[in-house]
Amino acid sequence: MKRQARTFVENGGGPGIAVIALVLVSHVSLARQAYSQAAKKPSTTEPVPALTPFVEEHAHFDEKDPAGAVRAAMAALGRENAAMILFQISPDTFEHPGRYDSEIILAEVKKHPGKLAMTGGGGSLNAMIMQSVATGDAGPEVQKKFKARAEELLREGVIGFGEMTAEHFDGFTPYQTAPPDHPLYLLLADLAAEHDVPIDIHMEAVPQDMALPPDLKSPPNAARLHANIASFERFLSHNPRARVIWAHLGSDFTGFRTVDLDRRLLLAHPNLYMEIKTDPDAHGKTYPLGFDGKIKAEWLKLFMDFPDRFVIGSDQHYPEPKDADKRWQETILLFNQLPADVRKKIGTENVAHIYGSSLAPFLRAAKN
Ligand SMILES: [Zn+2]
Ligand SMILES: [Zn+2]
Repeated sequence: MKRQARTFVENGGGPGIAVIALVLVSHVSLARQAYSQAAKKPSTTEPVPALTPFVEEHAHFDEKDPAGAVRAAMAALGRENAAMILFQISPDTFEHPGRYDSEIILAEVKKHPGKLAMTGGGGSLNAMIMQSVATGDAGPEVQKKFKARAEELLREGVIGFGEMTAEHFDGFTPYQTAPPDHPLYLLLADLAAEHDVPIDIHMEAVPQDMALPPDLKSPPNAARLHANIASFERFLSHNPRARVIWAHLGSDFTGFRTVDLDRRLLLAHPNLYMEIKTDPDAHGKTYPLGFDGKIKAEWLKLFMDFPDRFVIGSDQHYPEPKDADKRWQETILLFNQLPADVRKKIGTENVAHIYGSSLAPFLRAAKN
């Protein structure tokens, strides 16, 4: 029960209460049945590895057992044909009990250079932004503390800032909202550019002010959602040298993260990248795969038109939950349908470019 609820809510898209999670699980099992019949998936439970190496650029871990999570991720590399796994920290608030940041696992991660790495700030920088939104104080003292914390994380060894959020539905961590052009987000963009590291951001797409979609619950989510795309574009334009990865393409719970929107933003903002996440247990409202398991034509065209702008970020948790379908597997079934030259870019080359010197030397060694 807990595991099911947790599995659902950790996609950041759910109401996060047990009753709804149960309804969803039964609903999903029907969808899964239809899917598996139509998709002619192999009947075996053997995992299907990536055809060519890839970097899992967005994974999470069991913070109660960092050493075990690292062992599980290391063991998964060969099974998935992953060259490397990057851990992210769920975006959180100061009020949420159990909040943590990268320090909880960083020492274990650093034992495996070239195989594991991580971002940081989801449990601190993100919490500072949410606090600043609540208090209305983004003054010099707040900015000074924010900068000091960001630079502390980088000194400790994180290779990017994540997982940040601007619109996050209640789940494993609480409902959170902040304008992506908040002064602390603009400061973060400047810090990212200065230190040559990327920002990973979770943001439900809200082109205009709107009511919460009826399948989500308020409270805990806000009854009204504030438009964030224009504000996101101001954030992207503020410092074009800051590389920004918009997480969770395929895990869209407002229904507005469409091919058209993604295409328009990729065209307008050369510093924008996107992570592909397809969760078999919680399809987004604009899902790139059809019921036959094939990439839908308009999404395939988007990946082919912008091969330098996507990475694989399945949001897989390690150790892998036993009673949930594997996010990495569904995402890799999508990846394996891409042409070899596009796979090479989305698999490893784009990550090497986005993360620069901290990962590129290792990734050059990965055979494509
Ligand atoms: Zn997320
Ligand atoms: Zn995540």
